[in-house]
Amino acid sequence: MRFFKVLTLLLCLISSLSFAQTVQDIRLASTPTDGVRFVAELDQQADVSLLKLNNPPRLVIDFKKANFDYQVLQKKWPTVGFVNACRTGMPLPQMARIVLDFPENCQWTERHFSLPAQSAKNWRFVVDLNRTNSAITPSVVQKKSTPKKQKIIVLDPGHGGQDPGAISRTGRYEKDLVLKMAKETKEFLEKAGYKVVLTRSKDVFIPLRGRIKKAHEAKGDLFISIHADSAKNSSAKGLSIYTISEKASDKEAAALAERENKADILYGMDLAEYQQEVSDILIDLAKTDTMNKSSQYADNVVVEMKKQIRLVPNAHRFAGFVVLKSPNIPSVLLEMGYLSNKEEERLMWEKSYRNKLSKALVNAVNKYFRDNP
Ligand SMILES: [Zn+2]
Repeated sequence: MRFFKVLTLLLCLISSLSFAQTVQDIRLASTPTDGVRFVAELDQQADVSLLKLNNPPRLVIDFKKANFDYQVLQKKWPTVGFVNACRTGMPLPQMARIVLDFPENCQWTERHFSLPAQSAKNWRFVVDLNRTNSAITPSVVQKKSTPKKQKIIVLDPGHGGQDPGAISRTGRYEKDLVLKMAKETKEFLEKAGYKVVLTRSKDVFIPLRGRIKKAHEAKGDLFISIHADSAKNSSAKGLSIYTISEKASDKEAAALAERENKADILYGMDLAEYQQEVSDILIDLAKTDTMNKSSQYADNVVVEMKKQIRLVPNAHRFAGFVVLKSPNIPSVLLEMGYLSNKEEERLMWEKSYRNKLSKALVNAVNKYFRDNP
C-alpha cells in the first residue's frame, strides 16, 4: 500500500513538473523596416497573453504555466531599435513575464505568431513590433538638454479622516501628528530646493493604493510615508524606518505592517475606482533597482537620525507595507516613535523635536540624490 502511495505521489510530481514549460531563450533584433522582432524559445507550446500598457508605454508578455531558464533570468538585453529595455520576472509561481519598455509617447503595433523551431520539440513565439509615430521630436531633444530637473519628493502622512491611526495614552491621534510632521518637513525640503507633494494636506481618508497612485501622478522621485507606532508594552520606544519586503524582518515588523495595511479593510470606501489604474501600475515588475534605492535612502535616514535621537535596535527594518509597493518610486515608511510611550508622545508633540527629525530626513534626501543624481 505504502509503496503505491509513494509511486502515485512521484508520478504526480513528475507529471506536474513536465507540465510547466520553460522559456529557454529570448532574442531581440532590429528588422530592415526599423521595427523590432522579439523571439522567445520554449521547450513546449505555452499559453501566452499580451497586454499593452501606457505611462510608461510597455508591452507585457505572460507565458502561463511556464518558468524561465536560469540563464534567461540572469540575462541583460541592450536597447534594440525603439525597445528601450527587456525585463523578465515571475509575478506568480509558474508565470513567466517579460516586459518590453518603449520610449515616452511611443505608439506601436504588434503582430504575433508562433511556430515550431528546428527541433520538433521546441516552440517559438514571435512578436513583430513597429513604431507608428515618429521617434524623438526636436522639442524633446531640447528638453533633454535643459538643466537637471527639480527632484520631487512625495510625503505621505499616514491615516486621516475616519482612520485615526494609533491613539496615544492621552487620547491624541497619529493622523494629526503625522500631518503636522509632513507639513513641516515639506517646508524644510522646499528650502533645500526640492518640489514636495503631499498625499493629503487635510484630515481626509485616502486608501493606501490611492496614495501610491498620487505618488505616480506627481512623478515622485522618492516617497516617504510618515507614521507613529503604538505598542501594548508602554516602555517600547524609538524611531524606525521600513522598506518593502515580502518577508518581514521579525514578528513585530509583520504585526506593524498588518496594522498599517488594515486601513483599507477597516475604512476602505470605494476601492474599485482606484483598483484599475493602480493594478496597471502594480502589474509592472517590482524592480530590484527600486528596492535597492529604497534601502539606500533608509540607511541614510538611520545615519542622520542617529546623530539626533534614539533609534530602535536595527532601525532599518523590512515588512510588507502596501503603501511601499510602487515598482518605480523608491519608498520608505518612517515610524517616528511610539505614541504609547509617555516620554516619546510628549517629545513628538514638540515642534522642536519634530524639526530635528525633519532636518535628518532632508540630510538623508540630499545624500541620496548626491549618490543617485
Ligand atoms: Zn500608522
